[in-house]
Amino acid sequence: MRDGRSTAAGPGQRGRSGPGGAEATSAGRRRSFEALSEEIRRCTRCPLSQSRTHAVVYRGSLEPRVVFVGEAPGAEEDRQGVPFVGRSGRLLDRAVGTLGPALGAYGVLNVLKCRPPANRFDPRAARTCRPYLVRQLELLRPQLLVPLGAKALAALDPASPPILRAAGIVRQGMFGRTFPLIHPAAALRSRRLRERWEHDVGALGAWLSGSVLETL
Ligand code: URA
Repeated sequence: MRDGRSTAAGPGQRGRSGPGGAEATSAGRRRSFEALSEEIRRCTRCPLSQSRTHAVVYRGSLEPRVVFVGEAPGAEEDRQGVPFVGRSGRLLDRAVGTLGPALGAYGVLNVLKCRPPANRFDPRAARTCRPYLVRQLELLRPQLLVPLGAKALAALDPASPPILRAAGIVRQGMFGRTFPLIHPAAALRSRRLRERWEHDVGALGAWLSGSVLETL
C-alpha cells in the first residue's frame, strides 16, 4: 500500500517481538501494528478518552518511507477517527501531491491520539500517550520523520532549535532523520507562513529526490 490516504490497521493479533521473533518480518510488524492500533482505540489512560468520539491512530502505508507527525486530532479527525482530514489535512494532502513519486509510501499520525478540549495541546496527556508514539515509530521504521509544528518537533527532537529555525532542514532527531515543517494550520493563518510552508515543502521534495542538504 503506497497511498497515504488509505487508513491502515484494523484489529489483529500481537506479534512476538525481539530478534528472530515475529517482528523481524514485515508481516510480524504489521500484525503488531494492528494490535497496537486496537489498543490505542480502546485506551482509557487519560481524561481525553472521556471526551473523544474516536481515538485517531494512523492513516497510510504500513511500510512507509516517510511519516508525517502532527500534534493532535481536531474536530473532524475526532469525528472520523482518521488523522488530518480537516482543513490542515487538505493542505497537507496538497503538499503530498506536489512531492509526487519522490515521496514514496507514507503515513500520517499524531503525538496525541485523542482530541484535547478546545484543541488545546495537553502536555500531560502527551506524556501518557508517548509510549504509543514510540511503539508506532518502532514498528513503522520510516526513513524520514516529518514533524508538523512545534509540538511534534519537541516530541521527536527535544534538542531542536525552535520550529521556525528548524523547519526546512534535515536533522538527526531521537528517532532518526527528521525534516521539520511548520504546522499546516499555521500556514493557513498567514500569508508569510504560507510562503514559508511552500518553500519548505519544496526543500523536502528536493531532499527526497536525492538533492544534497546538510544534516545537522
Ligand atoms: N492538526 C493536527 O496536528 N493533527 C490532525 O490530525 C489534524 C489537525
